[in-house]
Amino acid sequence: MNYLYDLWDDLISLLFPRLCHGCGNQLLRNEKVICTECFVVIPRTNFHLIPDNPVEKLFWGRCPVERAAAFSYYTRDSRIRRMIHHLKYNGAAETGTELGRIYGNSLKNTVFLDGIDLIVPVPLHPSKLRRRGYNQSELISKGISESTGIPVSTDILKRITVTSTQTRKSRYDRWINVNDIFRIYDREGIVGKHILIVDDVITTGSTIEACASEILKTDHVKVSVAALAYSVI
Ligand SMILES: [Zn+2]
Repeated sequence: MNYLYDLWDDLISLLFPRLCHGCGNQLLRNEKVICTECFVVIPRTNFHLIPDNPVEKLFWGRCPVERAAAFSYYTRDSRIRRMIHHLKYNGAAETGTELGRIYGNSLKNTVFLDGIDLIVPVPLHPSKLRRRGYNQSELISKGISESTGIPVSTDILKRITVTSTQTRKSRYDRWINVNDIFRIYDREGIVGKHILIVDDVITTGSTIEACASEILKTDHVKVSVAALAYSVI
């Protein structure tokens, strides 16, 4: 009987091939979202094991972040870049959760997560959320949570303004632009907590800085940062 199921699976995958979003190759039966080769060759930063790493340095002199890390380097033509592109623009929601799970497994049982109480994804503005159908940072957070057991909250922090594209602005202009675009809705609920802010790609750190600054207006709160990728483009 089992072999009939296998045959059926093979027929389905022949008609509707499942493709890896990192390399575009067809996934094997035992591969879920990302193929084994992509899983192996994703260039890990291991920043969660390196104090004063480049992502932590991004926040020096800007806002007091306890620890910061990124899973992978984000480079031109990289597999992780293609995966994140599919996640953000092609509806590949499961890729976000899966990459979050993989990153969570790397973070699990390391000092990086010591004392972290809550994961808060960088929120999307409601209008963008409606257009995309999901918040990619929320999916990554969900995956990290599944691997680590740390809960996720999507109600505490909200985005209240839409920001335009930031690519050609100076760091000061970006700061002005992103300052005050987030609001905490349950300040009481985060008093005394250590929050891990999660984003997809970290470039200048301005968006996370804006989130962190809003959270840090609360008493006795600490903030750390984890991104799926660190852009070196
Ligand atoms: Zn692949």
